[in-house]
Amino acid sequence: MRLGVQACLVDGRLEPGDVEVEDGVVVAVGLEGGSRGVALPGFVDLQVNGFAGIDFLGADADGYREAADALLETGVTAFQPTFITSSEADLVTALRSVPLEAPARGPRVLGAHLEGPFLSATRLGTHPARYRCDPDLALLERLVVAGPVRMMTLAPELPGALDLVDALHARGIVVSLGHSNATAAEAHAAFDRGVRTVTHVFNAMRPLTHRDPGIVGAALVRPDVVVQAIVDGVHLDPDVVRLLWSVAAGRFALVTDAIAAVGLGDGDYALGSVDLEVNDGIARRSDGVLAGSTLTMIQALRNLVELGVPLERAAEAASLTPAGVLGLGDLGRLGIGRRADVVVLDDNLEIERVLVAGETRVAG
Ligand code: ZN
Repeated sequence: MRLGVQACLVDGRLEPGDVEVEDGVVVAVGLEGGSRGVALPGFVDLQVNGFAGIDFLGADADGYREAADALLETGVTAFQPTFITSSEADLVTALRSVPLEAPARGPRVLGAHLEGPFLSATRLGTHPARYRCDPDLALLERLVVAGPVRMMTLAPELPGALDLVDALHARGIVVSLGHSNATAAEAHAAFDRGVRTVTHVFNAMRPLTHRDPGIVGAALVRPDVVVQAIVDGVHLDPDVVRLLWSVAAGRFALVTDAIAAVGLGDGDYALGSVDLEVNDGIARRSDGVLAGSTLTMIQALRNLVELGVPLERAAEAASLTPAGVLGLGDLGRLGIGRRADVVVLDDNLEIERVLVAGETRVAG
């Protein structure tokens, strides 16, 4: 099957020509005859709390299917359902509900991202304080056996956090630093233990200042650390995004931190046990604290392009780079022999078509 596209993103550059897909795999690129659109790797979102009316913390199989269908329409072909700090019972239930197999028509579920509960009491953002706790290996063990934990966000300055990092790495779980008041020295200690990424950079962490660089400064001076960023025009000022990009292009991963409100408009919603209100697309708790976003990956990509980032680089920030955080070399890139998870965009960066493993699932 030919995609009919004018170009395809291969190894970081837009290769002119059409793409052929067979048995779920890309078998040829650069073919003559394509007429419209550009084929990009399907988007990979490391932080999705909910989508299209579904909060993953309380979702059942039907909920996952609904949310996954809607995610696909925004170009996401693989994602991590993300659970904020919650009671152990709620986290265990949520982990047990994570589908081990992708919903039949939907994007791949890569495993859960546990955002908490081992976070700084001073940088909780919207996470409920009553369920926050210091690192606890026994609790971690109970959570890990409940379901497929793929990533955990934690605050490295907490007592026992570095031992927890070792325990997570021993289980193959990716650690991300976040909701943290860590100094640069405390962050470096975690990076020295093998941590390679930071959750929603600048948000819910000690701010970077010239004599106290904190996690942000430590992450930016380490060329092997990926910063995850919410580019929705709210969580980061556009100039801060430009600044981040100028320092960390190639290790900058777009995430949405999306909540159930995406696609439904303003109103009252829940994020785990937290009630929040969405106004003008901005989600806040009653005290004004930001509570996730209503961003989609395609919009995040457009926002990055709008800020001057070339399309091929922005596309990598939505696919190759987040896939790399999880160590998934087969994900987030197109090329001969690679799985055909593809987003086809038109000249206005509107989604024309989405394929998962070579099957067209969304046709614009
Ligand atoms: Zn967060």
